[in-house]
Amino acid sequence: MTIAIYPGSFDPVHNGHIDIAVRASRIFEHLIVAIYDRPLKNILFDAVERTEMVRRSLAHLDNVSVMHYHCLTVEFARSQNATVMVRGLRLAYDFDLEYQMALTNKALAQDIETVCLFTDLNYAFLRSSIIKDIINGGGDVSGMVPIHVQQALSARY
Ligand code: ADP
Repeated sequence: MTIAIYPGSFDPVHNGHIDIAVRASRIFEHLIVAIYDRPLKNILFDAVERTEMVRRSLAHLDNVSVMHYHCLTVEFARSQNATVMVRGLRLAYDFDLEYQMALTNKALAQDIETVCLFTDLNYAFLRSSIIKDIINGGGDVSGMVPIHVQQALSARY
């Protein structure tokens, strides 16, 4: 059985993330969405809140679980017996970063493969920071995030 992890900050989860998770869940027997506790960027929601939001968004998929972690991503993957790391690619800019990260992770763990899925065109512009900027400016993010995430964002701002 191939176990894959889909790591990221997910602050908060949006429809672009959900699309990648749904598609990865059709490819791999088990998918763990892995939420990095302390990313090197300002976060709005703590790890438990981010985990809960992802859980609610993917509750309909029975081969997906959601966990948060604070060690190196490859170590977390090993601890879960995962052999694949899923990442999403939006634009060329993402490719450079993901390529560098994949090579670094390969140097750290030969046994773990990175698999990148291309974004759905509808979500190519979506990133969590843009969603926070829109909400902060009083804009409408429906169609970009699930309703429960929209509510959590409105409550936070
Ligand atoms: P972001 O804040 O940019 O959404 P994350 O660290 O939460 O970043 O992203 C986790 C993974 O999901 C990364 O591989 C990222 O490239 C991917 N991802 C983020 N947004 C999208 C999107 N709109 N379409 C496809 N993949 C995405």
